[in-house]
Amino acid sequence: LAQLFRPLDLLGMVYRTIRQGAIDMGSMFALVDTPAEIVDAPGAPALAVARGHVRFEGVSFGYDAGRPILHGLDLDVPAGTTLAVVGSSGAGKSTLARLLYRFYDVDGGRITIDGQDIAAVTQASLRATIGIVPQDTVLFNDTIGYNIAYGREGSGEDEVRRAAAGAAIAGFIERQPDGYDTRVGERGLKLSGGEKQRVAIARTLLKNPPILILDEATSALDSRTEADILATLEQVERGRTTIVIAHRLSTVVHADQIVVLDGGQVAERGSHAELLRRGGLYAAMWARQASERDEALAAAE
Ligand code: ATP
Repeated sequence: LAQLFRPLDLLGMVYRTIRQGAIDMGSMFALVDTPAEIVDAPGAPALAVARGHVRFEGVSFGYDAGRPILHGLDLDVPAGTTLAVVGSSGAGKSTLARLLYRFYDVDGGRITIDGQDIAAVTQASLRATIGIVPQDTVLFNDTIGYNIAYGREGSGEDEVRRAAAGAAIAGFIERQPDGYDTRVGERGLKLSGGEKQRVAIARTLLKNPPILILDEATSALDSRTEADILATLEQVERGRTTIVIAHRLSTVVHADQIVVLDGGQVAERGSHAELLRRGGLYAAMWARQASERDEALAAAE
């Protein structure tokens, strides 16, 4: 009789093991930060970009069910203008950029470019339209020339040089013993934060996208480097629809439109001067950053 029951025992053990496995898999997926798979709709056409008018229409989104990050957000970025997004840490600023690039699909509402829902066009055509200058640029263990050319496959040497000049990094590269063939990365030349950002800007110039996302570095650059980078970025932004994810307010003053995100919604919108006059959240953020700057200057004296 005991022999008869053994297979059943075994079955029970297998069942328990599978069940345990299933539970572990479940908790693993809950913890691991994997975006839901984004797929092209069957027969999706390519995005036809006329000028790059970006709109968020009642966009709602959360990474996890039950924890919404954005609630019915409306944004309108006319072609060729700059929108700066500010707000406290965790307000959802970078999330906006991820949604526009379609790393995630929205839960409600829609995002359009020149009137076309970005979820209805091919991802390849969407991503070819948008350039991102990220917070932290990843450099390959290869030459600096290769690292710039990566912005657009098949770019020629002359184009790479022009892009480097546009990003104000050509002089630095030419001063290196091997010029554009200088290796960077772990066993090569180490680039500063500002220099890495310039490589990202050069890549973007090669890509030449009508829409640009600048995710400003949170790590502070020294004020001279920051001023230099800002001047370079202003050149790059010219004629493109730009969304700046701003962590420091000094970078948003020139934006055509500033939105302050708070609690997943637009709390204030307007130009720098309008928002200062309003005396709300933006004005308070500005006053706080200005006094921090003054304190830092006083401490340095
Ligand atoms: P910061 O100024 O600190 O960069 P942010 O305004 O850009 O902040 P987001 O990165 O957009 O903020 O994050 C918004 C919220 O979403 C935060 O509460 C964050 O914890 C959460 N979040 C961000 N990325 C993920 C993710 N991959 N999975 C789950 N939650 C996330």
